[in-house]
Amino acid sequence: MTENPIQPSLRRLLAEALAELRIDQGAWTGEGPDSLAVRTPITGGELLRLKADDGQGVAASVAAAHTAFLAWREVPAPARGAVVRRLGELLREHKTALAALVTLEAGKITTEALGEAQEMIDVCEFAVGLSRQLYGKTIASERPGHALRETWHPLGVVGVISAFNFPVAVWAWNTALALVCGDTVVWKPSELTPLTAVACHGLLRRALEDTGNDPNTHQLVLGGPGAGEALLDDPRVALVSATGSTRMGREVAPRVAARFGRSLLELGGNNAAVVAPSADLDLALRGVVFAAAGTAGQRCTTLRRLIVHESVVEELVPRLVSAYQGLRIGNPLSEGVLVGPLIHRGAYEGMAKALEQAQHEGGKVLVGGERAPTPPGCAADGPGESYYVSPAIVRMPGHTAVVAQETFAPILYVLAYAELDEAIALNNAVPQGLSSAIFTNDVREAERFLSASGSDCGIANVNIGTSGAEIGGAFGGEKETGGGRESGSDSWKAYMRRCTATVNYSAELPLAQGVDFS
Ligand code: NAD
Repeated sequence: MTENPIQPSLRRLLAEALAELRIDQGAWTGEGPDSLAVRTPITGGELLRLKADDGQGVAASVAAAHTAFLAWREVPAPARGAVVRRLGELLREHKTALAALVTLEAGKITTEALGEAQEMIDVCEFAVGLSRQLYGKTIASERPGHALRETWHPLGVVGVISAFNFPVAVWAWNTALALVCGDTVVWKPSELTPLTAVACHGLLRRALEDTGNDPNTHQLVLGGPGAGEALLDDPRVALVSATGSTRMGREVAPRVAARFGRSLLELGGNNAAVVAPSADLDLALRGVVFAAAGTAGQRCTTLRRLIVHESVVEELVPRLVSAYQGLRIGNPLSEGVLVGPLIHRGAYEGMAKALEQAQHEGGKVLVGGERAPTPPGCAADGPGESYYVSPAIVRMPGHTAVVAQETFAPILYVLAYAELDEAIALNNAVPQGLSSAIFTNDVREAERFLSASGSDCGIANVNIGTSGAEIGGAFGGEKETGGGRESGSDSWKAYMRRCTATVNYSAELPLAQGVDFS
């Protein structure tokens, strides 16, 4: 088989990044049927192979993390924060190399890959501050001579299972917080993006060593769903934080619950934006194109449904179509490219099937949906196969079955509405509940959308698209998105256990609620 002509340049980029990150390739690479192929969606070609962990390997990592936890929980939280500060410094120093790995493995365009690396740095800064703010409460006791308080303690080993489309940012959200909270971590990254995981794991181990701490505080296990499953039943894993499809969450949640473990679920989204009659259409246009076509439609927060008022739909949609026609699709490493490849053949087939179903349900494809012309140097049907598609806009007659499902590809369904209540009902008519937006200059409409009977999603934006959240807020969604919250605000509480303590400093023993047991 002949190799794709750009494969050697991708290998060179990989070698440079691995050298800069000081990754000991001998420790990670492996051959044989059980090894894990590292492929790049840019060409579909294989870059190298890594050793994978079996159930025994995962159990050994959990045991090591559990032993490390017994000491780590005693380290004062600000001293734990010092490790995360050092991690942030290393991430900053190696930002470009990490972004190169994200592009190679996940296919993100360079600016988005750099943004993902920046997100790790940002959450480290947040967590360092948090390490001095793990506040509890003092509560007024009803009994004389009694003190009532609430404190937060480390939870244990946190199992982090992550998805391919945010190969490192989601790990950082979980890990930076878990570490300052006094937990140790076992990370099972997506089998599609193991190299970025090896790189981040290496940097964190370095940060632990540089600060005189036990490197076993963080463990990495590589493999497919089987490696993730090995974390579900182990009672030493106090919390399983799982990011991925709703299908995966359906398997994870009941198994962890069966042993009364905790799970934090960040699952699929099917996000909508409402465009009201008063909207600034120039702003809406820009917000919609980035949210719907950016990352080739492979964000959990990707805009998948556009609900436009009937008075502006005929003006907005042709402008969107024309913007889509100008999108440059191709090698994500090339300047000016805005849409990179889909992750693999399965993603392409999923998109083709959804478009077929949409047309069957009365939809009309206005633009896109084609396998894109071969980007320069990337043979579309060459060895390994890469999948570049033109983002699609489909005008739908209403809310149909295909509109209710998440297809992890760039398809934007357009629906028209007459009354705001109808638009809100459409926004909420799907099983997922992650992100939502309204474009409006009418404060009544904006506030109605954000109110208790407005959007039912975990994220609701005004005059911003559905994607691109900041780390300072709590991130997550309702319904089939799983209900978890990660990153900012008080998400840290998911990584700790709460203890309510009552101290009697009197010589009496009064009982609560006036009970007399003398
Ligand atoms: P996926 O569900 O195929 O895989 C995610 C991870 O789960 C992988 O590491 C995989 O190995 C593991 N896994 C799969 N089955 C498992 C099982 N039975 N037990 C334990 N682990 C298992 O998802 P993907 O294709 O990598 O990512 C895309 C999906 O993730 C989309 O649905 C997207 O919306 C969602 N996502 C959600 C968020 C969020 O914050 N809500 C963020 C990113 C991605």
